[in-house]
Amino acid sequence: MDVNRTSRRSIPFEFACAGWNGRKAVERKWKRNWEGAMLTGGCLCGKIRYEISGEAIGNTVCHCADCRRASGAPLVGWMSVARAAFRFVAGAPKTYASSAQVERSFCSDCGTPLIYRNAAFADEVDVATGTLDNPDEAPPEHHTWTSQQLEWIRLADGLPRYPRGYPET
Ligand SMILES: [Zn+2]
Ligand SMILES: [Zn+2]
Repeated sequence: MDVNRTSRRSIPFEFACAGWNGRKAVERKWKRNWEGAMLTGGCLCGKIRYEISGEAIGNTVCHCADCRRASGAPLVGWMSVARAAFRFVAGAPKTYASSAQVERSFCSDCGTPLIYRNAAFADEVDVATGTLDNPDEAPPEHHTWTSQQLEWIRLADGLPRYPRGYPET
C-alpha cells in the first residue's frame, strides 16, 4: 500500500513538460533553496517544531482519498526528504497506522498533520508542505493520484499529472 507514495530518490528535479513560463523560475528557486539551506516548520499551535536539512527527494501535491481524509483538505502538498535530514526539535507528534505500511503523524493538541512514512521507503519521510514556515520555498513538481481528484478542483499550474504515484506504478 503506497497510496500517496510520490517520489523516488533517483528523480531529478526537472519537469516533464514545458509550457508554463514560470516553471523554470520555480525550478531555479527550488534548487537554490536546497543548497545547504535549513527548512523549518511546525504545527498550528506551536507545540511541535521540526527542521529539515539536506536535499529534497521530491515534491508533489497528492489528491488521494487517504490524504484528503487525514488532513481534511481537498488536496495535500508533500515534500519527501531523507529521514536523516528530518528531525523534530520541539514536542512529539502522535503517530497512527493509516494503512498496512503507512504511518501518519500529527499534533495531538491542534491536529495538524505533519509527516507521512511508508515502510516500503524506509529511508524517506514525507513532510506536509503546508506546515513549513515558508511553503513557497518548496513548490511542487507534479500532481499525483489525480485519479482520485475532486471533480470541482480546477488546476491551471501546468504541472505534470499522474493518475497514481510518481513514478507511475
Ligand atoms: Zn495521498
Ligand atoms: Zn499543535
